[in-house]
Amino acid sequence: MAGEPQDDCLFCKVVGGTIPATIVRETETTLAFRDINPQAPTHVLVIPKEHHRDAAALAAEAPQIAADVLRETQAVADEEQLESYRIVFNTGSGAGQTVWHAHAHVLGGRGLEWPPG
Ligand code: 5GP
Ligand code: ZN
Repeated sequence: MAGEPQDDCLFCKVVGGTIPATIVRETETTLAFRDINPQAPTHVLVIPKEHHRDAAALAAEAPQIAADVLRETQAVADEEQLESYRIVFNTGSGAGQTVWHAHAHVLGGRGLEWPPG
């Protein structure tokens, strides 16, 4: 069922506490933690605690939680004192998605080129 934890999902394991992470913020519905392989001085992942496979599925299946995730990206940026930052939802393997649990990358603390690679 949509939203149920998946045994084989890395980020469900982070939510469940069986894989450690450096958590920077937590709400009832979301978790924000540092990416293990940071691509910028600030690189934080904001995820829904519920399992949804990507951003589009999250928006369709749990729109309120999708809004919570977006609100938390701003909260992370504020805490990290980022004036400018980028929110990325890689969607599909061709775009670099490797973990099939919706997550927003919050990237900042350096110049960010546009268009991205
Ligand atoms: P994607 O490539 O799916 O958009 O993003 C997945 C992200 O998860 C990558 O940036 C990767 O570095 C990060 N990641 C993968 N495994 C772990 C882990 O065990 N802990 C943390 N904190 N991040 C991870
Ligand atoms: Zn999951």
